[in-house]
Amino acid sequence: FPTITVIGAGLAGSEAALAAARLGVRVRLHEMRPHKMTPAHRTANFAELVCSTSLGGEGEMQSKGLLQAELRSVGAGIVGAADASRVPAGNALAVDRDAFSERVTGVVRAHPLIEVVAGEVEAVPEGIVVIASGPLTSDALAADLMRLTGSERLSFYDAAAPVIDIDSIDLGVAWRAGRYDQSADYLNCPFSKEEYLHFIGALEQARTHTPHDWEKLEFFEGCMPIEEIARRGVDTPRFGPLSPKGLDDPRTGRWPYAVAQLRQEDAAGRMWSLVGFQTGLKWGDQKDLVRLIPGLGNAEIVRYGVMHRNTYLNAPEVLDSTLALRADPTKFVAGVLAGTEGYLESSATGWLAGTNAARLALGLPPLTPPAESMLGALTRYLASANPKGFQPMNVNWALVPELPLPEGKRKWGKREKRPLLFRRGLNAFMTWAQDEAGLSVTPPPVPEPAGEEV
Ligand code: FAD
Repeated sequence: FPTITVIGAGLAGSEAALAAARLGVRVRLHEMRPHKMTPAHRTANFAELVCSTSLGGEGEMQSKGLLQAELRSVGAGIVGAADASRVPAGNALAVDRDAFSERVTGVVRAHPLIEVVAGEVEAVPEGIVVIASGPLTSDALAADLMRLTGSERLSFYDAAAPVIDIDSIDLGVAWRAGRYDQSADYLNCPFSKEEYLHFIGALEQARTHTPHDWEKLEFFEGCMPIEEIARRGVDTPRFGPLSPKGLDDPRTGRWPYAVAQLRQEDAAGRMWSLVGFQTGLKWGDQKDLVRLIPGLGNAEIVRYGVMHRNTYLNAPEVLDSTLALRADPTKFVAGVLAGTEGYLESSATGWLAGTNAARLALGLPPLTPPAESMLGALTRYLASANPKGFQPMNVNWALVPELPLPEGKRKWGKREKRPLLFRRGLNAFMTWAQDEAGLSVTPPPVPEPAGEEV
């Protein structure tokens, strides 16, 4: 049997090992816990869920629902273990924490082609490797990754601003322009004085996520959270990230009192991030606050702002959409280290990295799932996003290509569009998995139509 190495038995690494073994490839899976713990993990179990116990919303309305369905169709291990240890949680796939990770540990350890090796890996070994050591990668391995990819391409903190779906921005209020003579690359949301003061008042009241002791952040001036900027004085944001300077509102011909700017995140222009708006606010408060910005009253946040410790690569600079390192295509990266957020996304990229590493070991070319599928959309995004200020990404509907409008129709309603995107994506994924990847595919149960994105 050809052999591959997987580093880390977390969400991504456990799935990578199972996916590779399923293709008949022998796997050496290294895990450092319990000999060396991370600051967040508590047990020696594989695929430990360090915080919430939810793998995201289910059903045809949910972007995570599509990713779950794709993974179910190819019999992926993590989503299978989640289904087997689920607890009632409305329209979300939530699990019993211990039952879930004990199940994953049992399945991985029992597999005849997987050898579990205890201990820390300090340097990426020779041969075909999946690196899945997660957001809390040990220091020695992180140093070696910097050698492999270049030190400026590995980040240790995530200071991210909310990202918004273009369809939910009111383009009758926000206008496109750059400051002074800059090219018109930004969407600009104008505040009146009253709106600004109301917004700052709400910002002062909003609650922040309290970091664990081990992840207390020292802020650089360049990535100070917006709530911290506002604490320095009511006008400080207006002279900082909310400055109106050089932005003539086309409706008045004058600079507004303040302006929130949005910058394009993806090549297709579906996702826009709020410039200088990195924040550690609780997600509910963050949503309410963003919706106070003129033009963003109905904003749909596809990725919330976060401020926490996180080890991840600048994926668009170093990764191919197959999840192979461009500089060394025998090395694959998965999970948070590859620039994804979330348990489900980590396991999904683990599945693809494990499948591709096994294919390479078998003399077959690595593959990328189709753009219409949620997994293909995610890995294509990782390989092609704007590398400037790149932040890890959750799956969301803005990642997949737009659905063409039938003749005579002017706009899709959300409730009619998402089930169509869901079916298009799942069909594309299953056809690809069967015809191109040569996998056995079983159509998953059609999920109940469900409510809002959760
Ligand atoms: P992990 O699941 O962390 O797996 C990495 C594994 O590699 C670990 O088992 C680790 O022990 C091992 N390892 C590290 N270095 C080495 C080494 N040198 N040698 C051998 N083994 C090594 N996502 C959500 O969806 N919901 C949440 O609520 C959530 N909360 C989070 C809370 C915190 C504090 C953090 C840091 C992240 C959170 N995430 C959450 C984000 C992310 O989804 C999880 O961290 C997820 O576990 C990432 O999967 P992974 O496989 O990339 O890493």
